[in-house]
Order: sequence, then structure tokens, then C-alpha cells
Amino acid sequence: MDKQDYKIHIVGAGVSGLIAATVLEQNGFSPIIIEATDRVGGRVKTDKINGYQLDQGFQVLLTAYPAAQKYLDYKSLELQHFLPGASIFKNKKQEVIGDPLRDTSLLFSTLFSSIGSFLDKKKKLKLNTRLKNKTIDQIFSDKERSTLSYLKALDFSESMINDFFKPFFSGIFLEDQLETSSRMFEFVYKMFGEGSAALPKGGIEEIPKQLLQKLENTT
Ligand SMILES: Cc1cc2nc3c(=O)[nH]c(=O)nc-3n(C[C@H](O)[C@H](O)[C@H](O)COP(=O)(O)OP(=O)(O)OC[C@H]3O[C@@H](n4cnc5c(N)ncnc54)[C@H](O)[C@@H]3O)c2cc1C
Repeated sequence: MDKQDYKIHIVGAGVSGLIAATVLEQNGFSPIIIEATDRVGGRVKTDKINGYQLDQGFQVLLTAYPAAQKYLDYKSLELQHFLPGASIFKNKKQEVIGDPLRDTSLLFSTLFSSIGSFLDKKKKLKLNTRLKNKTIDQIFSDKERSTLSYLKALDFSESMINDFFKPFFSGIFLEDQLETSSRMFEFVYKMFGEGSAALPKGGIEEIPKQLLQKLENTT
């Protein structure tokens, strides 16, 4: 049978469906995507209201994601990069901590912040280096446990876990007990350390829009 004769249906035009279509096209097939809503993108959407771009949910692109590097054209997304740090609100005070090795402007605020002890900061730097040297394959074949027990085993203080890791990673794992696998923690942490968190100039939906534009033989 000719590749064109295969009837392949993909349910959903979220990022997964669009990538599935991309890969099928690259292999000579012409798939059909069935999407229930009025446009592509799934959870990755931007609404334009009164001149404002409103992304649905706070979403960022981690530029180090290997699959994103493989399928997206970063240049035409006109990525706007965030500083490699986090802004923490505690006791009505705002503190900024981050990776001073990547952005020296974060050195003093990180060193003198009350988030975590000096030892915590040292452990965080050590973790950065350890994960830089660990490959993604090693991460996903390593023993897994919950992120919380992983952080406790690394001897991070309760304050560091409660004031930084829990709020930061709840927003990524979409659960606040850090029960997500330590493999996922290591992967995301490594990605934050190796690239930057960025947003396309036109909003997060530019990502699925770009994937759609590149499709030529998909219905
Ligand atoms: C609040 C929030 C914040 C997030 N932040 C980030 C982030 O910062 N960085 C990041 O990388 N990821 C983030 N994510 C995760 C990311 O959005 C998802 O991993 C990704 O969008 C999943 O894509 P998907 O194509 O697998 O699924 P979806 O985006 O859910 O797409 C599924 C599509 O299938 C369609 N569909 C479902 N059932 C049917 C049916 N029966 N018939 C026809 N169509 C159907 C739906 O309408 C939808 O368009 C976040 C998610 C949320 C909710």
C-alpha cells in the first residue's frame, strides 16, 4: 500500500497532536487531525483581549527541552527570556533568589536572602553541577522516589523546601505535595539550569501556531 493510502487520524490538535502530525508528514504520511475546539493549541493558548495578550495558565518554554529544540524555530518565535531566578513573597516581603553563576546581578540578593541557609545555597549550587553532568538517559533510568523525599535525602532544610522548592515546583508539577517522581524533578531542574525560561513575543500560543504553519500534508 502507498503511504498516501493510509488513513491516519490524530485525536486532538494540542502540541502532542501537532508533533505527531509533523513526524508522520516527515515520514511521508498525510494524517487527519480531529479537534473538538475552534483552534489548535490545546492547553497552550493565548487570548487577545483589549490589546492584552493573556496566556491561559502561566506557561513558559524551557529552551533546553530537547524536543522543543528539535521541532521549534526559536528565532521566529522571538523569545523573551526571564532572569534565571525566582521571586518569593514571604511575610509581606519580596525576595529574589537565583543562579548568580549565570547572572551576576542575582549574586547579592541570593547570598543575603532569608530563603534557606548558607548551607542550602551551597547544596543548591552542588545540585546544579551534579545535574549538569548527568545525562537525560541517566536521569530517567535512575532509581525514583517522590521529589519531597529526594530533597530531604539531599538534606535541604525545611525552610528551603517550604519557601522555595514547594511553591516553585507546585506550579510546574501542578500538585503541591511534591509527590511527583524525582526523575521529573531532576529533568526539569536540569532544563532550568541549562537553558532559560522564555515566552514567545506574541504569547505562548505562537508555539502551536508555528507547528501548524509548518504542516503541509495534514488535514
Ligand atoms: C496551568 C498550566 C500550566 C502549564 N505550564 C507549562 C509550562 O510552563 N511549560 C510547559 O512545558 N508545559 C506547561 N504545561 C503543560 C502543557 O500545557 C501540556 O503538557 C501540553 O499542553 C499538553 O499537550 P497535549 O497536546 O498533550 O494535550 P492538550 O493540550 O490537552 O491537547 C489535547 C487536545 O485534544 C482535544 N481533544 C480532547 N479530546 C478530544 C476528542 N475526543 N475529540 C477531539 N478533540 C479532543 C482538546 O480539545 C485539545 O485541543 C502547563 C499546563 C497547565 C494546565
